[in-house]
Amino acid sequence: MICKNGQITKGDTTVTLEKEGATLVFKHVPAMVCDNCGEKYIDSEVTKDLLKTASEIVQSGVELDIRNFKKTAA
Ligand SMILES: [Zn+2]
Repeated sequence: MICKNGQITKGDTTVTLEKEGATLVFKHVPAMVCDNCGEKYIDSEVTKDLLKTASEIVQSGVELDIRNFKKTAA
């Protein structure tokens, strides 16, 4: 999965999710970034938070949502 030559550094990324016809964009999602291939690895806890937040947004009925992602948001 992780290439042999790359260095993994802390960074962030933008995640776009399409869910039930809604488009959700999360900016500044914490990720580990490989400086060799540019691959981004998102922690499973962060992914869980993302999906949970996405479900809540979809339930509120919006079709397009762009927001900064904060891991600490309850
Ligand atoms: Zn790599």
